[in-house]
Amino acid sequence: MGNHLFDLVRARIPAPEARFALIDDGRVFSYADMVEASARYAGALVSLGVKPGDRVAVQVEKSIEALMLYLGTVRAGAIFLPLNTGYTPAEIEYFLGDAEPSVFVCDPSKADALRPYAEKAGARLETLGVWRSHDVWAGTLPDRALASPAQFADVARGPDDLAAILYTSGTTGRSKGAMLSHDNLASNALALVDYWRFTKDDVLLHALPIFHTHGLFVATNTVLLAGAAMILLPKFDPEQVFKYMAQATAMMGVPTFYVRLLQDKRLGKETTAHMRLFVSGSAPLLAETHREWRERTGHAILERYGMTETNMNTSNPYDGERVAGTVGFPLPGVSARVVDPETGKALGRDEIGMIEVKGPNVFKGYWRNPEKTAAEFRADGFFITGDLGKIDPAGYVHIVGRGKDLIITGGYNVYPKEVEVEIDEMQGVVESAVFGCAHPDFGEGVTAVVVVRPGAEVTAASIQKALDQRLAKFKLPKQVFVVGDLPRNTMGKVQKNLLREQYKDIYLSRKAGE
Ligand code: AMP
Repeated sequence: MGNHLFDLVRARIPAPEARFALIDDGRVFSYADMVEASARYAGALVSLGVKPGDRVAVQVEKSIEALMLYLGTVRAGAIFLPLNTGYTPAEIEYFLGDAEPSVFVCDPSKADALRPYAEKAGARLETLGVWRSHDVWAGTLPDRALASPAQFADVARGPDDLAAILYTSGTTGRSKGAMLSHDNLASNALALVDYWRFTKDDVLLHALPIFHTHGLFVATNTVLLAGAAMILLPKFDPEQVFKYMAQATAMMGVPTFYVRLLQDKRLGKETTAHMRLFVSGSAPLLAETHREWRERTGHAILERYGMTETNMNTSNPYDGERVAGTVGFPLPGVSARVVDPETGKALGRDEIGMIEVKGPNVFKGYWRNPEKTAAEFRADGFFITGDLGKIDPAGYVHIVGRGKDLIITGGYNVYPKEVEVEIDEMQGVVESAVFGCAHPDFGEGVTAVVVVRPGAEVTAASIQKALDQRLAKFKLPKQVFVVGDLPRNTMGKVQKNLLREQYKDIYLSRKAGE
């Protein structure tokens, strides 16, 4: 038995000297460099006592070295466990306690603050910082990697062995560790390479963080299994994106990337002429953004849908129509259905219910949480995504929001998205978030928070009045608030949990019947 994921990576290397990564500090990594650097990291981990199945937890800034550490961990037969760079020491304490990694790698600047938590969890602390020059590396782990052999005999791992644990982003509850096998990652990346037509001639503009499934697996594994190249940017910065766009062929982004780029006058047909594909995901792309992007650049953004637990589930087609506001069709090998959330009975076309998926992309369960795992799977193996949606007569999947965001007011179900869509269409509105707040009469009261364009003459009262004409009475927000912006996490997801918390008392302070 070989190493399932890395064997596939090796088999798809176009040529040792082919470019793998262009880094914005001027370095170029060939595929031979990738194989060597990941061998050194694998060797460094083994020299630290890392054994197959051990977790290697990592909270570091984005860098090519961090990607080499990911591949090195896979080659060493261990489990890569990336953590959001925004997590505080208290949050890190929870993750280390839960995952019990044998090694925890952090930024050198955080080592002193995090060492006690690493020790408490029984993990050895190592550091990995940003590269400075060919002989100055920031961190104990790159030093150890440099001192390790340039070759490594990959540890045997089968398709079902774990390659990574990714903690869910926790916008609707405490983060849980999703266990992802070699085949979960490999099968999904291979499906995406085919579906999105990636070849060795592609160059991906990589501006996403690499602690999340989008930047780590969707972007990086797709490049690797296509034998393609990437331009690795430390973060999303429109200046950098415009600087490199003429050398790239594809970009993967969260909707906020596209919104931000649309605000830039440089965006147009000329600046995007070299590109063949723009992919969006991780949060809903407004139909308006899709339309504006197409008008300005001539490119239809390809929206897809996935999650930490399942990798990618659905995608708009490469050749067929990319329908704004939908997430397309189930990927080859993936089955998707919509069911009644209560009974689990399959629903017909256009009926809204719980989206469930099954396929080689779906994870192996939550780390050390068999109860939660059992609760999220049906007896026939389908995973209950927690997303509400429908499949239209043409087969396109639509998402209307997280199940936990469903508002039940006076016994009626209100899907936030149907209210948000109406508000977002109004002149002068940028975007909105609709959620439920506890209400003494109705159980929950529909509440809207709206961002308006500077100078637009839109008020809470004018929004309410306009909605009155368009929505059934029970769907009308009982209160509308105009705000400067919506709280978002690093993947561009609106944090409705924060909004619910902020506005939780607005109806409770009044007496019943008011
Ligand atoms: P995460 O596990 O952080 O990747 O979050 C996954 C969740 O993001 C999904 O369950 C959806 O609620 C949401 N999501 C991902 N892609 C899309 C999309 N294209 N449209 C709407 N929601 C999306």
